[in-house]
Amino acid sequence: MADIIRLLPDHVANQIAAGEVVQRPSSVVKELLENAIDAGATEIQLIVKDGGKTLIQIVDNGKGMSGTDARLSFERHATSKIQKAEDLFNLHTKGFRGEALASIAAIAHVEMLTRTEEDEIGTRIKMEGSKVVAQEVVVAPKGTSMLVKNLFFNIPARRNFLKSDHVEFRHITDEFHRISLAHPQVAFNFYNNGSDVFQLPANDFRKRIVQIFGRKTDEKLVPVEEETHVVKISGYIQKPEFAKKSRGEQFFFANNRFIKSPYLHHAILGAFEGLIRPGTHPGYFLNLEVDPGTIDINIHPTKTEVKFDDEHTLYAMLKSTVKHSLGQFNVTPALDFEQ
Ligand code: ADP
Ligand code: MG
Repeated sequence: MADIIRLLPDHVANQIAAGEVVQRPSSVVKELLENAIDAGATEIQLIVKDGGKTLIQIVDNGKGMSGTDARLSFERHATSKIQKAEDLFNLHTKGFRGEALASIAAIAHVEMLTRTEEDEIGTRIKMEGSKVVAQEVVVAPKGTSMLVKNLFFNIPARRNFLKSDHVEFRHITDEFHRISLAHPQVAFNFYNNGSDVFQLPANDFRKRIVQIFGRKTDEKLVPVEEETHVVKISGYIQKPEFAKKSRGEQFFFANNRFIKSPYLHHAILGAFEGLIRPGTHPGYFLNLEVDPGTIDINIHPTKTEVKFDDEHTLYAMLKSTVKHSLGQFNVTPALDFEQ
């Protein structure tokens, strides 16, 4: 029988990878915001239209790219962030898979404008469905602007699967909250359909929380602080009396990366046990700093699920630390649930 196995062409492989990396407009926002952060930006603008379906633009003042790098950045597995397998266990950047730009360029119209500090002149590259349609040398400010239009233009099934602009915008806002909370020292401006959503000057963590969730949040916060050889825990929990029916304000960050962890969430619930009404949810904004060698971020393409080496210790520490903070701030007296 004749041989039947063949290697997929790059643009097909890219489209397959895009299926995992880019689920919806908010995935593009996440990847591009993370790239801007990794590039050392201190100011980032996010502009979206129609829930990100027609347009997403991210402008940063980070280190920019040379013309050659700009072109290479759209190749799959093209990254400046790691070089060898061992680097995976010592990650200090959001990105490392070298997949985002290749994936996004496979399923959208992308225009990149970039310039490094050293270069006098910048580069503009236009991509459509993994193909370079234009590359030119242009005047450009230092940093990078990424314009992503017509997401899923070549995958109608995916495009049709998108929810209303309103819902997609909410996903984008969620992603924006996570990244801007993880990086309070970075200034962000966020515009939707031409109007302001958030103007966030650089700040500390507490003020960033208040910038995002409103002035009334400030009085609800109780600081949390603990450091051992395994982990440094810092951040804030909300006082139990502010527990809400909805789960909105619950954030874990591991080494400045938003993560989802039902297991660690359970530890927090344990600490709040008896202090909140059943069916209500406590708010928290907690940073876990661990040795990058003790956390595996590479278990899912979107990197929100991670694996800690010593989850049990982390669980116990988190629970006791939160309990301790609640105690210190005199919020232990049990509520009278019968009232
Ligand atoms: P990764 O972030 O995993 O490295 P990406 O596909 O997101 O992969 O980006 C590829 C490369 O392009 C990055 O490693 C980086 O060198 C470069 N790059 C992407 N976005 C920017 C940006 N906003 N500023 C500077 N360089 C960037
Ligand atoms: Mg990236």
